[in-house]
Amino acid sequence: MDLGHWLGQAVEANRAWAEAYGPFRSHPSLEIDDERFAEVFGTFTERLKENYPFFHPRYAGQMLKPPHPAAMVGYLTAMQINPNNHALDGGPATARMEREVVEQLATMFGYDTHLGHLTTSGTVANLEALFVARELHPDRGVAYSAEAHYTHGRMCGVLGVEGHAVPTDGRGRIDLDALEELLATGRVGTVVLTAGTTGLGAIDPIDRALALRERYGVRIHVDAAYGGFFTLLAGAEGPAGLAEAPWRAIARCDSIVVDPHKHGLQPYGCGAVLFADPEVGRFYLHDSPYTYFTSEELHLGEISLECSRAGASAAALWLTFQLLPPTPEGLGQVLAAGRRAALTWSELIEGSELLDLYQPPELDIVSYFPVTEPAALSAIDRASARILQEGMTGEHPVFLSTLRADARAFTGRHPKLTADAEGARILRSVLMKPESEDYVTELHSRVEELARRA
Ligand SMILES: *Cc1c(COP(=O)(O)O)cnc(C)c1O
Repeated sequence: MDLGHWLGQAVEANRAWAEAYGPFRSHPSLEIDDERFAEVFGTFTERLKENYPFFHPRYAGQMLKPPHPAAMVGYLTAMQINPNNHALDGGPATARMEREVVEQLATMFGYDTHLGHLTTSGTVANLEALFVARELHPDRGVAYSAEAHYTHGRMCGVLGVEGHAVPTDGRGRIDLDALEELLATGRVGTVVLTAGTTGLGAIDPIDRALALRERYGVRIHVDAAYGGFFTLLAGAEGPAGLAEAPWRAIARCDSIVVDPHKHGLQPYGCGAVLFADPEVGRFYLHDSPYTYFTSEELHLGEISLECSRAGASAAALWLTFQLLPPTPEGLGQVLAAGRRAALTWSELIEGSELLDLYQPPELDIVSYFPVTEPAALSAIDRASARILQEGMTGEHPVFLSTLRADARAFTGRHPKLTADAEGARILRSVLMKPESEDYVTELHSRVEELARRA
């Protein structure tokens, strides 16, 4: 699809709709002449050049990429109207689109029943899940792994509940023995499991953890903000296929968070929270004197902690899902390419004398470090930082990211290294663009070249 053409159509569609309401005079206070606009726009686009090229496969750093063109057109078309998905009064069309996409997400995870909505971010979506958890277990805390997203600890503070970080195993997954020991104290009411940690992409053993739910009467919340859409590769044929058990077990968990603005091809401002039991809606009970008048139908603001939310986010996701649905044949193909890219690169790294794999990729995140002499953490830390910086310069830049690994985790995976520091930065690349698949040999040789310079 030609983005320029469809952006023009977005403006046309809005104009045609608006014209039906008849002419009116626009206010002079808002008028800006084109010459003046051109000048400021020039400065503006110049300033935007300061960004890293997230769109290009040579950017292999954080979880960042532009939205799909369909999402851009969907967003901008709806944004001209600027609906607010807080209430059906604020955005009737986009609120209904939101209900539909949330249903598609629930189906993707195998939920038979659900209550859910989009949020501004994964952080807010997780906050909502932990808020409901606290209402159900007001006197008990929340457990999450030491590699869970940092916002879980922060949000426990916000909610005034005790947070417990549980150690991880040699692959970065929650240690179930340590978790069970904690649950036996009776201090925990909810366990957060991560399906795809932000650092390494590790998948907590959700299937095995479910047995603990019955034994200790806890809720299980799955934070799949980053990893959720990988459920589309569970049991798939070919190298990109993932072990089914943890993904299928998500259907039996109490709540799920997934971020369409990470792997769902969406612009920022699009997280989602789903609850298996629609009855939890009662905890959100409130009345709003300003809104909720046009219908008896549920307003999304009635089941959400946030008030105003962009209807355009729902519009963008709806349009995208019409074209690339959250199915193995649709969006699954996009994720599979990134997963294959990560596998191919990790094989190249394993065959390299200049680079070493930190651990095999679980999803599409590759973790690796330069081989140094001496083979010690402080030297690895310095070399990783140097490669990150030098990589961004010159004619053929590459953009990576670093991840701090603590000494115990590092030497657990690589016992021959000398632990002469408390930890070390390693290199980390999220290969979330399907285009990365064609580009990994290029990336690899460039990073090898940087490592050779030491
Ligand atoms: C990104 C992420 C979050 C936070 O989501 P935001 O949308 O950045 O607020 C939470 N948990 C995990 C596992 C994540 O990867």
